[in-house]
Formats: sequence, C-alpha cells, structure tokens
Amino acid sequence: MLKDQIKNLAKAYKSEFIALRRHLHSNPELSFQEYKTAEFVEEKLKSFGILKLERKANTGIVALIEGKNPEKKTIALRGDMDALPIIEQNEVSYKSKNLGIMHACGHDVHTASLLGAAKILSEIKDKLEGTVKLIFQPGEELIPGGASLLIKENVLENPRPSGIIGQHVMPLIPVGKVGFRSGMYMASADELYITITGKGGHGAMPETLADPVLMASHMIVALQQVVSRNASPKIPSVLSFGRVEALGATNIIPNEVKIQGTFRTLNEEWRAKAHIQMVKIATGIVEGMGGEIDFEVRRGYPFLKNAEVLTEKAKNAAKDYLGEENVEDLDIWMAAEDFSYYTQEIDGCFYRLGTRNESKGITSGVHTPTFDIDEDAMEIGAGLMAYLAVNELNS
Ligand SMILES: [Zn+2]
Ligand SMILES: [Zn+2]
Repeated sequence: MLKDQIKNLAKAYKSEFIALRRHLHSNPELSFQEYKTAEFVEEKLKSFGILKLERKANTGIVALIEGKNPEKKTIALRGDMDALPIIEQNEVSYKSKNLGIMHACGHDVHTASLLGAAKILSEIKDKLEGTVKLIFQPGEELIPGGASLLIKENVLENPRPSGIIGQHVMPLIPVGKVGFRSGMYMASADELYITITGKGGHGAMPETLADPVLMASHMIVALQQVVSRNASPKIPSVLSFGRVEALGATNIIPNEVKIQGTFRTLNEEWRAKAHIQMVKIATGIVEGMGGEIDFEVRRGYPFLKNAEVLTEKAKNAAKDYLGEENVEDLDIWMAAEDFSYYTQEIDGCFYRLGTRNESKGITSGVHTPTFDIDEDAMEIGAGLMAYLAVNELNS
C-alpha cells in the first residue's frame, strides 16, 4: 500500500530530515532575505531529481513533481522559509550562526518537512495521479507577506491547484499528534498607529492646556465598545493596545501621545466596518476634547478559512496515517498567518504539527528565544505531508 510505503520512507529518511532542519536552523535568514535558504532548497530539490523549478518573488521557489497523468489534478504544498529577529538562547549543536536571527517560528521545520515530502513524493511519482506543486515561500513574518507576492506572480496558475495544504508547528500539541480545524481558523490582523496632539504645559494649569493623556485614556476605553457593542457576538474580535507613549512627567503634560495596537477578527465585511467605526469614535472623542488625531490602520493579513471538504478529507487521512487518537480538533486561533491569502483564492487546509515534549523540557512558545521542537516531529512533518498530497490526488 502507498501509505505504508510513505511511512517506511519517512522512517528511513528521518535522520536526513533532521539534518535538513538543523542546517536551516543554524543558518536563518530574515523575511525576504532568504537567499542562501533558497539556494539550499534548489540544490536539494535537484538532488532529489526535481528539475521543474522556478524562482518567484526573488527568494521563493515553485517546483513541480509530475505523476502519471500530470494534467488530471494538481495539489499544492506550502512551506514558509523566513526567520525572526530574535537572539537564540538554546544551547544546542544547531544553534543559529547568525546572531540576532533565529528560526523561532519553526519555519525551518516547515521548509525541511516540505523538502522531505518532496523527496518521498519524487520516489513514488510513478504511482501519483496528477501533479504536486511545491511552494517554498519567503517572508511570512512581514507585511505584505510572501504569499501575497507569490500570488501576484501567478503561483496559483500553470497549473492551477485545486487546493493547497500547509502545516505549522504547534508547541501546545505533543509530538506525535497533529491538529485540524475546518472553517474559520485564524484571524485577520491590522496594526493601529495613533497620534493624539493636544497642547502641553504645566500640570498645575490644565485649564490653559488641551491634555492629550486624558484624550488617549478616554479613547482607549471608548474603543473597547467597538468589540463589545458594534461587533456581532457571533464574530470573534479583539482589540488590544500594547504601547502608549506619553513623555511628560509628574508635573508636565506632554504635547502628544502615541499609541499602538492590533485589531483582529474573522470576517472581512466586519473588518472593514470596524476600521471606519474605530476612526469615527476616536476622532469624535479627541476633537471634542480640543485635540487632533492621526489614526492609521495598517492592513495586515486577511482571516484564514480552511475549506471544509479538503480539510475533512485531510483530517481523515491523518487519522488513517497516525491513528485516530493522534489527531486533535483545533480551536479558533486569533493569531494571523499569510497562508490566508491562498485560502482567499483556492481551497486551503492549514493544520498543526505537534512539537511539544515536556519530558525533554521542550515547551517554549513560538517567537521566544528558547523555542525548539522535539525532532521526532520531522518524520511526521515530511511523511504526513506527502501522504496528504497522495490522498488528495489518488482518491
Ligand atoms: Zn511566526
Ligand atoms: Zn509561523
């Protein structure tokens, strides 16, 4: 059976997959600067006999593995390749050699897994019905997101995939397990940059001033009504302010206050309305109190929706591959992911690869300087991805 063949290959190549991951982990590159990573990926693909490949968006690579009837159907597999500006604190043999840059979101794992899946698929390609499109994507961590750039460069054409599958490490799920959710899964994320200008001066004479600190305080409280009163209770929304900068003193009211925040939700129509509503409320309060406001909404990624048929099928295939007990249901996750751009264009399935191992002390979250994975996950990361592609093409 093809499933057993894939499992055996994943097992046999496990140490190679781990070596791929370690090479990438030691040599991280920031978003849209993945030049050495891209060269490494190209070199590996060629060594697997995958020669149909091209560059897109400078550091992205799109490759095709053609099976028996290549025109019949195409499924895309996506792995992101960029790292984060974090100083790694893990003392491991594969520690980052680029000080201040770290694979702290597991994109090394995603790239190595996709390479591993490519190696397996190229070995069994005479049994595949259709084509697998491999997408090695740059710049997931930075707006506008590599996915949006690749789509502009027609990554979803010639051939057009019927669906796209992506995986992401999940340090909350134990190694050996994976998680799926069909329908709404991850949030859109917009950055808010607000400057309130008033008239500063001596704190003892507020009657001669226009106090931007008080304006900012009222505005922050009032904006929470966008989530509690304007948002439908049926649509998850979150509004958080993480930076308020008022550089006065005990007796000095400053001229201006700068505020930064994030707005996230799971509905594009409401997202657009909320932007207007937030600006309206904030402007009303600040102007009513005698100040001026500059309110910038910097649009981030859209919300991520997993297509139901594709995701259910993949979930069942994962149960088949790993055992029923090793496939979990995921809850909505208010973080954002640029995989969402693909899901706005074609059917998508974004699932989670468990990487946690408490007995080895591997529990740190993504985007922390101590993030790491239990590398036993590499066998599943590569093998399951290959199997999901086969399952989609051959059934
Ligand atoms: Zn990340
Ligand atoms: Zn990530």
